[in-house]
Amino acid sequence: MTDGRNFLDWLEQAQPPRPGFRRTRRPSQIPNVLSIGALRVVYQPIVDLRRNRIYAYEALVRSDSPHFQGPPALFNEAIRSQVCGALGRVVRELATSSCPDYPLFLNVHPNEFDEGWLVQPDDPIFSHDHPVYLEITESVPLSHFALCHSVLREIRSKGVSLAVDDLGAGYSNLKYIVDLQPEVVKLDRGLVAQAHRDERMQVLLRHIVRLCEELGARVVAEGIETREELEVVRAAGAHYGQGYFLARPTFPPPGISA
Ligand code: C2E
Ligand code: MG
Ligand code: MG
Repeated sequence: MTDGRNFLDWLEQAQPPRPGFRRTRRPSQIPNVLSIGALRVVYQPIVDLRRNRIYAYEALVRSDSPHFQGPPALFNEAIRSQVCGALGRVVRELATSSCPDYPLFLNVHPNEFDEGWLVQPDDPIFSHDHPVYLEITESVPLSHFALCHSVLREIRSKGVSLAVDDLGAGYSNLKYIVDLQPEVVKLDRGLVAQAHRDERMQVLLRHIVRLCEELGARVVAEGIETREELEVVRAAGAHYGQGYFLARPTFPPPGISA
């Protein structure tokens, strides 16, 4: 796929999802709001806190269209137009093509699991040369993912890993970690912000990290904005860190600024 090509042209040619999944709308029915030319990704480093070097990048979608201020608005429009799964596929194409030399963390919208695009054999997540982690947000009920266990099983059998995103932001359902057995858990900024000022928060952080470790998951502390927050998550034993203090999301993939 090349930049500047129209999303609808691409969708017309793309192989449709397999039978058994909800069908994506035919392009002629979709309002022409999601053009590939207006979509791009930025990358934020996920830093290995023990080795002090970049382990991976998280790709975050951006739209140049004034209609979409931030990724959630873009995905809401895609859901309204019934092209959520196809939009996710486009983002994965863009994300993998501009960052071939590192592991990648890619956000997946919960609705994408209903449309079948994720299990298309030609999806770029299956041919990336480094590990790929699909981020599933903890801020939707776990019951949603119970319905997608077969999709998750299929993706993982092909070597793609799972990361639970935003732990601590939503339902804080620790059963997520037991049920989904993610390789990585990402702690929401809500657990990290100002943690250096709060000893009880530090106890919580330390024990969440320990819990994740014992359940077989490595931990990313997200939203690190200051040196103090970095030191506190390091002391809690977090494996990786991510946040404006280390680097803001940009294109091309940035180095570490701290
Ligand atoms: P997320 O996956 O938890 O991504 C982290 C968000 O926090 C990003 O916002 C990032 O720019 C921001 N962030 C990073 N470091 C810091 C920091 O130190 N402090 C603060 N306050 N914020 C920081 P962004 O890019 O606006 O994305 C918002 C959410 O939209 C994401 O949260 C994710 O849930 C969703 N999203 C973004 N890109 C995609 C995508 O390609 N696909 C899907 N399905 N969702 C996406
Ligand atoms: Mg994320
Ligand atoms: Mg997050």
